[in-house]
Amino acid sequence: MTRKPKPPARQPILPRDELWNEFLQRLAGPEACNFRNDQWTCFGDMRFTQKLLRDMGMDEDSIEVSIAYFNDHAGYCDCEVVFNVGPKR
Ligand SMILES: [Zn+2]
Repeated sequence: MTRKPKPPARQPILPRDELWNEFLQRLAGPEACNFRNDQWTCFGDMRFTQKLLRDMGMDEDSIEVSIAYFNDHAGYCDCEVVFNVGPKR
């Protein structure tokens, strides 16, 4: 099998990636969940996560893999990705 490696930005994003903190900051920021004190915006789905990952150049397959990873780590909606998947460890 000869498969070319994909460019890094199009691979699924995971907490070990360099882009992870940028993604998380944007997800928590005013363009998405907009966390302020104890209030934030969340529709109970992954709409902001999907939009941001698309913005960051990820293809649909990679977005799906990323979301499956978030689900595995108790991130079932946008705010839970921030709370439960969380900052880079
Ligand atoms: Zn939520």
